[in-house]
Amino acid sequence: MADKSIVAVLGTGIMGAGMARNLLSGGMEVRAWNRSREKAEPLADDGATVVDDAKEAADGADFVLTMLSDADAVAGTVDGEVLAGLTDGGVWIQTSTVGSEGNERLARIAEENGVPYVDAPVLGTKQPAEQGQLIVLASGPEDVREKCQPVFEAIGAKTMWLGEAGAGSKLKLVVNNWIVGLLGTLAETISFARAIGVDPSDFLETIEGGPLNAPYAQMKGRMMIKEDYPTSFSAKLSRKDVGLVLEAAGSEDFHMMLAEAVASRFDEAIEAGHGEDDMAAIYESAKPGSK
Ligand code: NAP
Repeated sequence: MADKSIVAVLGTGIMGAGMARNLLSGGMEVRAWNRSREKAEPLADDGATVVDDAKEAADGADFVLTMLSDADAVAGTVDGEVLAGLTDGGVWIQTSTVGSEGNERLARIAEENGVPYVDAPVLGTKQPAEQGQLIVLASGPEDVREKCQPVFEAIGAKTMWLGEAGAGSKLKLVVNNWIVGLLGTLAETISFARAIGVDPSDFLETIEGGPLNAPYAQMKGRMMIKEDYPTSFSAKLSRKDVGLVLEAAGSEDFHMMLAEAVASRFDEAIEAGHGEDDMAAIYESAKPGSK
């Protein structure tokens, strides 16, 4: 029997922890590292080796898989020393959402160190990450595709291979714009309903099951109505994602009014103390009586 592939999972937050568990269930060996070690420690019960630094995680690994908050966090974690630890033919799979510029920056680090780099942001939130049901938007060198496939099959329900590294991050920006726009509209729709004396639950019930529905609207809408925001995806990281959309649009002189409005709503909600709450907390800046 072939040896187990070794995956160094760098970042075991909401997404990374679920992904690490699915890699273990998929028969891979996992070295788990997280800046705050206590978030990685529970993975030891699932069979992961929890390590103290990224270099130790990558030493002798077949893959480095990064799932950190943003490009700065990834670039501050993965350097030549970390990449040098990979086995011959080892691959860096970058799954954090970092946008176009962030992706280029990270691809350069890989190139400077002669390591194949796969840009592979994911769609899906906490539960799909835990259930191995993510959608992987992969792009990178053709010749490592087959090698990466078992990793993607373990973490995801579907992998789209999109071409040269960077194509995945671009598509992710497009999808994220759709998500945050939906959320902003949902927040204002629920507020508007309340402002004019309509029960917002009636709105959700009306659209449910028909062409106007979105399961996401039901899920996030219920959180907004209850004003209770258990975190699947933090408002702080959603604000980062809108910023990445605006950055990419700006680099093409493309003006996005709605994305700007959503960014301001997130800023207000974060200023009011909701940064670590779920993205549905954008409602806090839209609800009747707020600015
Ligand atoms: P999270 O739970 O907040 O985890 C963030 C991770 O980044 C933690 O491991 C954190 O370490 C680490 N980190 C932050 N700053 C760092 C730094 N300067 N140096 C080293 N490590 C640092 O976030 P998440 O929800 O898992 O999201 C991770 C990535 O996936 C983000 O790019 C996000 O946009 C993307 N994403 C999230 C979702 C979602 O629904 N949650 C869906 C798709 C994509 P500590 O634990 O020490 O803070």
